[in-house]
Amino acid sequence: MWKDNIPWSREIKNNMKMEFLNWFEELSSLKNLFVSRCFSHAISGQHGISIHTFCDASQFANAAAVFIRIEYADIHVNPLAAKLRVPPVTTTNIPRLELLAATVGARACTSVIRAHQRYQVVERLIMTEHKKNSHARLQMLLNVLREHYWILNARKTVRSVLSKCVICLRHAKRNVTTPSASLPENRIKDFAVFEITGFGLAGTLYLKGGSKEWICIYTCAVFRAVHFELFLSLTTEAFLQSFRRFIARRGRPSIVYCDNGGNFIGASNYFKSVNWPEIAQFSSMRRMQWLFNPPTASWRGGFWERLVGVIKHILRRVLGKAFLPYEEMITVLCNTESIINSREYIHASEKDSERIHLSHNSFWQDFRQIGVPDLDQVDEVVLN
Ligand SMILES: [Zn+2]
Repeated sequence: MWKDNIPWSREIKNNMKMEFLNWFEELSSLKNLFVSRCFSHAISGQHGISIHTFCDASQFANAAAVFIRIEYADIHVNPLAAKLRVPPVTTTNIPRLELLAATVGARACTSVIRAHQRYQVVERLIMTEHKKNSHARLQMLLNVLREHYWILNARKTVRSVLSKCVICLRHAKRNVTTPSASLPENRIKDFAVFEITGFGLAGTLYLKGGSKEWICIYTCAVFRAVHFELFLSLTTEAFLQSFRRFIARRGRPSIVYCDNGGNFIGASNYFKSVNWPEIAQFSSMRRMQWLFNPPTASWRGGFWERLVGVIKHILRRVLGKAFLPYEEMITVLCNTESIINSREYIHASEKDSERIHLSHNSFWQDFRQIGVPDLDQVDEVVLN
């Protein structure tokens, strides 16, 4: 009808009408057709089961049928699924139609297999075996099941069933959560800024001309203020020079936390060779206490590593891919230091704009202004 372009409203011709009426009469005989829908023998898995797919094509139609074959006392063959399609009007090539039918067959077969996997009885069987074998885990359960049954896509199916066992879920491991340890006393007491200091290396930079330099970060463990130094070489001598500069500008720390870096340990050993009783006789200088992080506990340096993240965040944006000369790099670093030290301790809400917020600078800088717009302007004029 469709090929002959017959509209819906027109009555069809005699031979076509007869064909349709015959087909319509045959429909009543469908009630005598019986298709078994229960395959409990197959589900018990104790018998040879195989799934067979047939497909064929002609110029009138392509079809596929999926059958199950069960060996149980006798051989039982039952249809499971069938598909029928009218071929496309434009395709007259038989091999092409055969290929289409094969595709239809493969799809029908896949859907049957999936339905089988979803079958609740299989799930119940797996769960029963799981409980029978003292809540056996995946691999053991697979082995036990394979002795008697063949489950399609077994690993995936068994895993999904196991995930529903309430008892196993209850005993499943949980992430270990430990309450975080309280901070050491010397980090919460009232000390002078930088009296308790932590330091580590914050990373490397390349200067104009290709020379390499290292940034060292000194952090106050109590007020979290920072101080940066540049090393041109990673040696104990270079570290001691920077440490001298730090003490000269920020004061002498009483406790120094640091990483396990070789040059730091070298510096500590230098200090060990100092005759402290002799020095103590002539000055009131206190001996500095050096606390090294154990080699496998770098997390203990978290309080300066966090600030290393902050400085990297700023430098990446300020420097980009630029290589600066040493002097300019020092300026950028001091600027960064000033920005980090001026950050506020608490979130400044818009509502309490009247209040003065505490920053790290508040503890040792009387002039709270940072930034040099006047110098920037001079720079601009010079560059122009
Ligand atoms: Zn279980």
